[in-house]
Amino acid sequence: DLGLAPVSRASVMRRADLPEPGPASHKYSRGMVAVVAGRMGGAAELAAVSALRAGAGYVLHLGGRDPKGAPHAVVRRRWSAEALDDVRIGAVVIGPGLGRDDDARARLDAVLASGRPLVIDGDALHLLDPDAPRGAPAILTPHQGEFDALFGKGEGSRIDRARAAAARSGATVVLKGPDTVIADPDGRVIVATGGSPWLSTAGTGDVLAGATGAMLSAGLSPFDAATAAVRLHGRAAVACGRSFIADDLAAALSRVR
Ligand code: AMP
Ligand code: MG
Repeated sequence: DLGLAPVSRASVMRRADLPEPGPASHKYSRGMVAVVAGRMGGAAELAAVSALRAGAGYVLHLGGRDPKGAPHAVVRRRWSAEALDDVRIGAVVIGPGLGRDDDARARLDAVLASGRPLVIDGDALHLLDPDAPRGAPAILTPHQGEFDALFGKGEGSRIDRARAAAARSGATVVLKGPDTVIADPDGRVIVATGGSPWLSTAGTGDVLAGATGAMLSAGLSPFDAATAAVRLHGRAAVACGRSFIADDLAAALSRVR
């Protein structure tokens, strides 16, 4: 059981997954993720660790204030928009712990202008104009409240609304919840049911954002990256059993597939 109920025929074709490393692999070829931090350092750290745990080869944590929690494998840099010019960066994750002040807005603007594939979550979704054109593919990962704030409270099922939001924004939309709906602008939709109600705890969305960045940086298409990350996240949650915390979930990303 993949925990994924295919809605469209195209999605039945194959299971999206992280490429396996081989003899020629190195840390940059595995995928390089930049996580742009903000006010609340812990959430961005969790996303950064989760990107590594989900299989990224290199993770840059940019601009965290008073960072302390993440392992040494997470590379820390002061925030500068130029840091995004590194051509090896395959995905930028922004939103977890970003805040919503002017500083946060400036960081989001720089990220949007960078032309890098993006994962946009949390606070960044509150600052985003969903109708503004973007120069690169993006995955939006709202929970229902963030989705309603971004796209308005519309009619129809969660599947219909996610599909409409993807078409409108031109982004892959991951509408999170007990049944997570993944909708691509090309019309494909998948409903992922394989998680655990114990995911309803602080920080689990930050773990998903980081894992999604890892998949995107490894070269998967946005739809495949979102699908693979939601699946891995759900599997990790099941492996954690009951009353786990987000750090346990991040650690479990390494143990499941
Ligand atoms: P966030 O709301 O950003 O912290 O993200 C929460 C994460 O936990 C998302 O991946 C949700 O899909 C998942 N989640 C939250 N509540 C539940 C639930 N009751 N059952 C299954 N998954 C959930
Ligand atoms: Mg969240």
